[in-house]
Formats: sequence, C-alpha cells, structure tokens
Amino acid sequence: MINWIKKIIFGSQNEKELKKLEPILQKVNSEDARISTLSDEVLRAKTDEFRKHIREKEKALSKELSGLKQQIDEATTQVSKDRVKQRLKKLYNSLFDEILPEAFAVVRETAKRTVNMRHFDSQIIGGVVLHEGRIAEMTTGEGKTLVATLPVYLNALLGKGVHVITVNDYLSRRDCEWMGPIYAFLGLSVGVIQHDMPPEERKRAYGADITYGTNNEFGFDYLRDNMVVSKEDMVQREPFFAIVDEVDSILIDEARTPLIISGPAEESTEKYYQIDKIIPRLKKGVRDEKTKEETGDYIIDEKGRTSYLTEAGELKAAEILGIKDMHTLSSMEYKHHVNQALRAHNNFKADVDYITKDDQVIIVDEFTGRLMPGRRWSDGLHQAIEAKEGVKIERENQTLATITFQNYFRMYEKLAGMTGTAVTEAEEFFKIYGLDVISVPTNKPLARTNYPDVVYRTEKEKFDAIVDEIVSLHKEGRPVLVGTISIDKSEHIGEMLKVKGVRHNVLNAKYHEFEAHIIAQTGSKGAVTIATNMAGRGTDILLGGNPESKTDDMIAKIEAGGKAVSEQERNEILEKFKQEAQQEHDEVVALGGLHIIGSERHEARRIDNQLRGRSGRQGDPGSSRFYISLEDDLMRIFASDRVARLIDFFQLEEGMPIAEHKLVARSIETAQRRVESHNFGIRKHVLEYDNVMNKQREVIYAERKTILESEALKEHIFNMTDDASDSALDIYAPKNLHPEEWDYNNLLSRFKGKFLINLSGDEIKSLSREELRSYISEKIQSAYNAKEISITPEKMQRIAKFALLQTIDGKWKEHLLGIDHLREGIHLRGYGQRDPLVEYQREAYEMFMAMIDSIREDSLEYIFRIQAVETEDTVGVFRPMSQKLMHPEAGSMRDMQKNSPSSKQMPVDMNQMPQPPHVPDTGPPKP
Ligand code: ADP
Ligand code: MG
Repeated sequence: MINWIKKIIFGSQNEKELKKLEPILQKVNSEDARISTLSDEVLRAKTDEFRKHIREKEKALSKELSGLKQQIDEATTQVSKDRVKQRLKKLYNSLFDEILPEAFAVVRETAKRTVNMRHFDSQIIGGVVLHEGRIAEMTTGEGKTLVATLPVYLNALLGKGVHVITVNDYLSRRDCEWMGPIYAFLGLSVGVIQHDMPPEERKRAYGADITYGTNNEFGFDYLRDNMVVSKEDMVQREPFFAIVDEVDSILIDEARTPLIISGPAEESTEKYYQIDKIIPRLKKGVRDEKTKEETGDYIIDEKGRTSYLTEAGELKAAEILGIKDMHTLSSMEYKHHVNQALRAHNNFKADVDYITKDDQVIIVDEFTGRLMPGRRWSDGLHQAIEAKEGVKIERENQTLATITFQNYFRMYEKLAGMTGTAVTEAEEFFKIYGLDVISVPTNKPLARTNYPDVVYRTEKEKFDAIVDEIVSLHKEGRPVLVGTISIDKSEHIGEMLKVKGVRHNVLNAKYHEFEAHIIAQTGSKGAVTIATNMAGRGTDILLGGNPESKTDDMIAKIEAGGKAVSEQERNEILEKFKQEAQQEHDEVVALGGLHIIGSERHEARRIDNQLRGRSGRQGDPGSSRFYISLEDDLMRIFASDRVARLIDFFQLEEGMPIAEHKLVARSIETAQRRVESHNFGIRKHVLEYDNVMNKQREVIYAERKTILESEALKEHIFNMTDDASDSALDIYAPKNLHPEEWDYNNLLSRFKGKFLINLSGDEIKSLSREELRSYISEKIQSAYNAKEISITPEKMQRIAKFALLQTIDGKWKEHLLGIDHLREGIHLRGYGQRDPLVEYQREAYEMFMAMIDSIREDSLEYIFRIQAVETEDTVGVFRPMSQKLMHPEAGSMRDMQKNSPSSKQMPVDMNQMPQPPHVPDTGPPKP
C-alpha cells in the first residue's frame, strides 16, 4: 500500500519536474536551425564567447559567491553546511542560465560533426538534469556517455575543472577517447587518470578542463595530496563539479566501506602461519539456539559470515599455542587471530570470495564479480587467508589516511550522477548527498517483456530448468545473457552447457581483460553469455553484434602478427562487419531480441533491474526472466519461515516450478527490501563514524595545506608560540592564583627547555600576568628572529616547514592508529547501556585535542632547537614506497546476523544499536 502510494507520488512528482525542463528543451531545439548553419570556425568560436559571458557574470556575483563559500567553511553542522551548499549550487547554476540553451545546441551540433551522433531530446533533458546537480536515471543504452558532454562542456567553461567519474579504468579511457573529439573541436582540454600513472601525468590530467577517472583514483589522489611534503607534489585542484557515471554503484555499493591508505605497522607475520596450523586440530561444534549451549571447539555462523571459538575451544587453542589463556591484554590478540583463521577456513571460499594468483590472494567483488587487486580484507582476515592458502603474508597494516566516498564526494561544490537504476535508492541519495533523482523517459518506448519469476524447490531443479531454456533458445538462434551472483555459479552453468554441447562465454573476474569485448558481442545470433552480475557494465549490447568492437579485435589480431593496418583497410573491415551485423540484427530482432536469464535474485532489487536493463536498449525487442530456488541464499536466510510454509503448501513434484505465485513474489521483494535497508544502515553507520574523523581530517588537512603553501611561516609560528605560552601560564601562573603563589621555577625552566630563552626571576617577578605574557612573547620572538638572522631566513623557513609537517604527519599517523584501536575497543564496550558512537565521538575528540596540543609543543621545540635540516631528511612521514591502497571488505547479506564478531571494525548491526541521543555538534577548533 505504502509502496503503491509512493509510486504514484513519485510518478507525479517526476512528471512535474520533467515538465519544468520542457521549456529549456524547446529553447535548445529552437537554437538548432541557426547553429547547424554555422561554419566550423564560427561554431568553435562560441566557446570564447560563452566563457567571456560567464566570467563576467561570475565577477558580478563574486561577492555573493565568496560570501557563501565562507559560510560553508564556517558552518558548524553538516545540516547548515548542506543548506548553504544548496544555495551556492543554485547561484553557480544561475551563471549559466542565459547561455545554456545555445551552448547545448552547440555541443549537439559539434557531436553531430565529430562523433556522428546528435543528442536526442531525451539526452538534452538528461543533460539539464545533470547540470542542475541531480541524478538522471536513464536506462542502459540511452547514451549517457553522450549526455554527459552537455553539462561537462558548459561547466568546464568556468575553468575550475570538471570531473567525470566512471567505475573502471577501461571506461574512463574509452569515454575520454570517445567523447574527446567533441571537446577538442570546441577548444577544451581533456585528461584521463589511469591506475598506473605517475604523479606528473596525473597533475597534468587534473589541470585539464575536463578529467575522466575512477572514484578510487580520485579519492586516493585526494588522500595522497594530503601526505606530500611539497606543494608541487600535489596533483589535484579544488574539487568543483563531478558527474558520476553508474552513480548507484559508486555512491551506494562502493560507499559501504571507506578508502584507506595504509602502511606497515611494525609487526611479525609468523603468528599467522602458527595459528593457521592449529585450525585442523580444532573440532567443529554446533550452537543450540534455544539453550544457547555450544558444543565442539568452534561454531560456524554462516549468516554472520563468521566463526568463533567456544569456551572449550579457547582452552584447547591456548594449550596448543602454549599460552596460559586468551583473556589478558597480551593474549587477547591470539583469540582474535584464531577467530579470523576460523573464518578464513570456514566462511571464505577460494574462487568464490577470492582467487589465488601469483602468490597473492585477490578479492572478488561480490557485486561485480570483478577482481580487486590491491584491496585487502581488514583486521587480519586477509593475512589469515594468505596463511590458509600458503602464500606470502603481507605485513600488517595501519591506516595512514582514510575517507569515505560519502565525504569525498560531498566536498564537490556541485555533484551530479547518472545510471540506469537509481529510484529504489532515491531516499539515500537525497539524505546522504542531497541529490534528487529524475527519471528521464527513454528515447524510444521500451519493448522488453519481463516475465514473472519461476521458483523451484531445489537449486538443482532450477539449474536444470535454466539450462533447458538456454538450450532451446540457442537452437532458435536467439542470444541469451545469463546473470549469476558468483563465479562458481557461472562456472557451474558453464559446465552444464558444455555437457549439452552449447558454445558459450563465461564472463567473470578471471577474464577481466576481455569482459568488455565479450559483452559487446552478447547480442550476436546464437550467442550464449554467462556473466556475474554487472560484469561489463558500461558496454553497449547491440543486437546482431558490435561491428566496431569486432573490427578492433580483428585489427589487434592482424597487428599482433606484425602487420600494420591502414585507415582505409580498417574502414573496409568495418564496412564488411557492419553489413554482416545489419543482416544478423534483423534476424535477431525477428527472433525476439536478447533474452535475459537471472539465475538468482540479488540482494538489491537495483542490481536485478540492471541485469534486466541489458536487454531492450533503444526500443529493441527483448525479454527477461528470473529463476529462483528455495535454496538460494536470499530465500533461505530471509524468507525461510514463509518458504517452509510454501513448500508444505505446494507439495511439489520434482522439477515442477511454483510459477508466478504472488506470495513468492512478495516474499522475495520483502526480503530484498530488508537487505537493502540493512545495507543503508551499514552505510549510514560507516558515515557516522567517518563524520567524526572527517572533521578532524578537515582540520589537519587544512593546517597542512596552509603550511605547504605558505612562503613565510613566521606569523603562523608566533601564533603558536602565543598559544604555547598561554597554556604554560595557565599551568604555572593560573589566573585564579595570586602572583605570590605562581610557580616561577617551573615556568622558567619550561621556557628555557622549549624555546632556549633565559628569563631571569628578578625581571619577571614584579610583572602582572598581562605584562608577563607580553614579556615572554617578546622574548620568544626575538629568540626566533636572532636565529633567523644567524642561519638566514630561507633556512629558517625550511626548518619551520619541515618541523611542522613532520610533526603533524607523525602525530596524525599515531592518532589514526589510536583511532583504529578505539573503534575496535568501543565496539566491545557497546554492550552496556552506552551508545558506542557517542562514546567514540567523545573519546576521539579528546584524543584529537590532545594531539593538537602535542603537535604544537613538539613542533615548536623542534623549530627552536634544531640547527639544520638535510634535504634527504625531508622525505616525510608517509614514505610512498610502503603504502597500500585499500577499499576493504563490505559486509554482505550474510552479515545481517546479530553480534557478528566479524563486524568488529565497524559494528554493523543496526538493530542492536541504541538510538543515538542528540550529540551537540562541537567541531574541534582550529589548532
Ligand atoms: P548508456 O551508458 O546509457 O548505457 P552508452 O553511452 O554506452 O549508453 O551508449 C549506448 C549506445 O548508444 C552507444 O552505442 C552510442 O553510440 C549510442 N548512442 C548514444 N547516443 C546516441 C545518439 N544521440 N545517436 C546515435 N547513437 C547514440
Ligand atoms: Mg554507460
């Protein structure tokens, strides 16, 4: 009922918003006739004309703009910050109001002339939505890559840099090359970031008007920029406008865990092997849910995706390891590692959750099925799996820098996104990112038939039915795309097809490099493709196959044989493939187009919709159907009681499906909604924790930046010395004590120790507190000046910069380690009446304030005492050599179990969490 109402409201709201955009579309269309007659030169010259216009407007509004920016900087709560940001966004957008229609028409005309595509009306609408800083929901195949060129061009005119974010390197390269001619024609520069690029190239790419790259690269570059010790080493500019492609994947799925740059914490890795060896000697037990009694040495908790020692197991493990017990401060660590080793053996499967390649354990992304080299599971789990697989163990890491995607992307002045599936997550987009979703109607009416799900009792029956359907469609010549949720399921179906003699492609993380090319031919006649969900997102599926892609493959083959291919030869090959494809296209259309088989429901409805959306592009015919068994994870874990009743009710015969039953459809949707909202809970939770860190990170990074960019730090240092002497005076000469009671001795030695200044008791004893304060300040400043004269101001500046950065980074690193531990510890405490988040906020704040003090004290001591800095010393605290970029494990639906010990790093159980009381938003003051 509620959903139905929501749908109607959303529907009409969406219509209303679309109506508002209609006049803009009309204006763009009315410009067309004139713009299309312009010569190339005149068309090109439009860029300068537009630039001039908006820069003038920007100048006129500069006061207002900078006023709002200042308000954002000074905002003390996220809510007020978000509110001002919305106003700033509107104001920025108003700069473009007058030129938008003409500029869009110019891009449209340019696209026609350069890449041979003219934006459809639906694409113009999408472009306006993006420009306004919203999410455009546009189905797969609607041409979102081209849509983006409109707002990208328009906003790039301001010269502050526009970022286009894609889900992988291949797509950023492809889109940049593909759309590049449009920008080049109009005189804008474009850059692309790739994973293996050195800093200088990155810097160049970020300096361009438009920069393509992945979310991970942008996020990590931001973090790295805040770890360098020289301004020249920073690669990014201030974040201005980002358009995120496949926005749900990036801002929702990927946002479940933060980005982390970590480095080694000095520790041995021997213990992982040692502990791994004892696992086979432990006995598996069970837990009685009613009496809570446990047998054996350990319990496997499948739902929680974890395993843990029983009390008996603890004793046994301690005995084998030769330690007394497992609950002292020093031995607790063993328990943690044994539990992780148990998880490694029982909850994580090779070739499903990870693969082992080149002496490395590589995570398989559960959403995309892609390999995630460089990512590591946290908390010693990765090492435990490395020990289990007998590969080299990387040293344990500590966090050096971290940020969530939520907080990274919220830094942009304007954010926009596009994807085929956003509406199911509209609430989250709005609450977290302030983005609203506009669903843009397709260019041509959708002609895909979505058949209702069929449900089998067992997985085996289900797979048999799937294979039967593939075989019969394949006989007709109709292309089939089968979506699975894991590599092993893909391979299982593949094996079954092999037995039946059906040629097919299995597309999963193992064949990463070919993904795009295979997916491109998925619509060929008789093609059978099995893919993990979303593999190859972003690749267009043309019915009858993709001649461009075939041509590229062919040329690559010829060139690999040592022959060069001329432009003319290429065109001939392409022409041949095009003709073939045209004929094949018609045949496939006659057969009904691409058929999608979902071999299981995913935990999010959105991902299922993505799979469906691969068929029926641009009005193509097509169909889809999901196959489900009562043994599927989703059904088993979340619909188990209902399902049990269904089994009884239907008394099924082997091989007979419960077809198209409303009850089933409803329990599936309910289960999916539960997992979706649980996952939203996790993301909110990660964010709540990161928000604490975010304020601290902002303070530290801002401080670093000031220091990095400062040509003269003296003023800055004198502010610090004043603070330092105030804090010393508060201790030794507190305001509430009479001067006779002041501790002159310690006061003198404190200043001598720190600043090498000699104050004599006789001089200061007659001074009032205010006089004393300025007397000390003067002494310190003249000590500094004297040192400056003796070693030259340049050298002094260098020493000061070095000392400040070195101290900040060192302390910050230590602080982050402390925070890591705090977060773990807080979770263990969370079982009392206290809300762990509030505790965490309070303690993290105290730790931070203590760190700020010690940064000031230590760096000043450094500055006043150090004599010289050798250049080789100034490499900084974060040596790039040993850094690791991580985007750690995201929980799955199996993590929904309560109290799962696996959730140690980030407590995930939202049901368990008491509602946080209102916490006053007291951001720490600037140091
Ligand atoms: P999406 O990202 O929305 O799934 P793509 O950007 O990959 O879609 O584009 C899908 C296909 O549509 C591409 O082959 C592209 O060449 C084609 N296309 C997009 N816009 C147009 C257009 N205006 N005219 C002709 N073809 C277009
Ligand atoms: Mg795309």
